Amino acid sequence: MICGIDIGGSKIELGVFCDQYKMQNNWRVPTPTTDYAAFIDVLVKLVKQADSYSSQASTEQRKQVQVGIGMAGLIDAQGKSLSANVPCATGKNIVKDLSARLNRPIAVENDCRCFALSEALGGAGEGFQNVFGAVIGTGSAGGLVINGQLYKSRQGIAGEYGHLQLPATLQQKYQLPRRPCGCGLPNCVEGFISGPGLLFLNRHFGGNAPSVPDLIESLRSGDPKASIIFDCYIDLLGASFAALILSYDPDIIVLGGGLSLIDEIVEQLPATIKPHLFAGFNTPTIKRAKFGDASGVRGAALLTLSKQALINYHAASCGELTH
Ligand SMILES: [Zn+2]
Repeated sequence: MICGIDIGGSKIELGVFCDQYKMQNNWRVPTPTTDYAAFIDVLVKLVKQADSYSSQASTEQRKQVQVGIGMAGLIDAQGKSLSANVPCATGKNIVKDLSARLNRPIAVENDCRCFALSEALGGAGEGFQNVFGAVIGTGSAGGLVINGQLYKSRQGIAGEYGHLQLPATLQQKYQLPRRPCGCGLPNCVEGFISGPGLLFLNRHFGGNAPSVPDLIESLRSGDPKASIIFDCYIDLLGASFAALILSYDPDIIVLGGGLSLIDEIVEQLPATIKPHLFAGFNTPTIKRAKFGDASGVRGAALLTLSKQALINYHAASCGELTH
């Protein structure tokens, strides 16, 4: 059996999967964010719980589950983490520390890249060659999967489309102020296209909706101000997606994260991307994620697959293999 661990700022979820990638069991615990020793201890305890579940539930000889981890943040070339959500992990080598405690190899990847992998293999991106998985929620980031394999870029930062800068033309068009980003760059689109970004636009245009669901409710009831706010939002999101299409030209973009649950976004996005692309070129297929929140643990579990296993899985899901 294999397990995927999704580490968020408030909770850690572990899912145990059978060899067909169906979740068999899962556990959630709060994330220790300020004490690194406690953070590692919690992960060790969870994996041992998965080991004991696996040895009871499976007839396999192997008693140890394989471990893949997805977490928000980046891993640098020296293996050190940079995580805003789990500050105690920043500067630490989680792979080294955890594999020493658990006596097995550990795979770690950014959570949005895990989302992309999960949706490309058996998810909404199944059957497509080049799948971009884009999360739009508290933040905005994604990952590219080519022929069933996650594109591993030199520094692991490819897919961070939320940190492209807002185009000056759109800044002027909507008279938007600059919004310095937590990453250190001066005006990332994430500050406008994420959930908090949408609420910022709401305030910018003088809206008084206290939350995104309230704003969407106003939009659906025909409120003209909500309509102005949403039109600006979807234009900015369309421009951001056009930038990633110009970079990767994927066959499909799979949307995840809280904002992907809003029908208007999924439906209107293709038409709002088009004006930001070259004339005569099409937008790719755009779909909502199949696994939703479960993609975090599922994508992390898929990290444990070997390169060849991923190719076989993808080929099988595209109908090229019949085993
Ligand atoms: Zn940024």
